[in-house]
Amino acid sequence: MILKKFSTSSCDCSQGCDCATSQDASASCPVCGELGKKVSAHTIKSQLKKETLQYYASHIDNFNFCNNPKCKFVYYDDSKSILITQDEIKSKVTIKNDDPTTPLCYCQKLLKKDFFAMLEAGEQNISAKLQEIIASGKSFCEKSNPKGVCCTEDIKAFVASHGLIWENSSTSNSCC
Ligand SMILES: [Zn+2]
Repeated sequence: MILKKFSTSSCDCSQGCDCATSQDASASCPVCGELGKKVSAHTIKSQLKKETLQYYASHIDNFNFCNNPKCKFVYYDDSKSILITQDEIKSKVTIKNDDPTTPLCYCQKLLKKDFFAMLEAGEQNISAKLQEIIASGKSFCEKSNPKGVCCTEDIKAFVASHGLIWENSSTSNSCC
């Protein structure tokens, strides 16, 4: 089988940020069966812990991100012979980790506990505040986010899972 070559298309948000949108994997996760997303070698190089990266150095072009929150595996390769768990990567994965120190936005270091602090403080319009933070600095999602793409979609889902409605803020220039 000829595997689809990885390529990213630029984000089409009006702000012209350079974060990529992800492409569907050519193979589904061998453990949970869900179709993941292709990640680039840049993402893999930035995310794998040193020893793991050295071990799989010749495979870094062939990894996919498992997008299933319930699956403990983060990456799998196209041939489905390599599985990477969260212990083998540097970042905590937003959709797979309930630890409060797990990032929501990797580039601006916005953590889940920051969101909980806003909730506790009774902040109004949390989604606008989060969008302000996301847009407050440079984004380098392909390297910082284990998924290799902009964090916004996962933050929206996270906020929704806590019963809040995400409203697109007109004042902040949220990436993607
Ligand atoms: Zn999986």
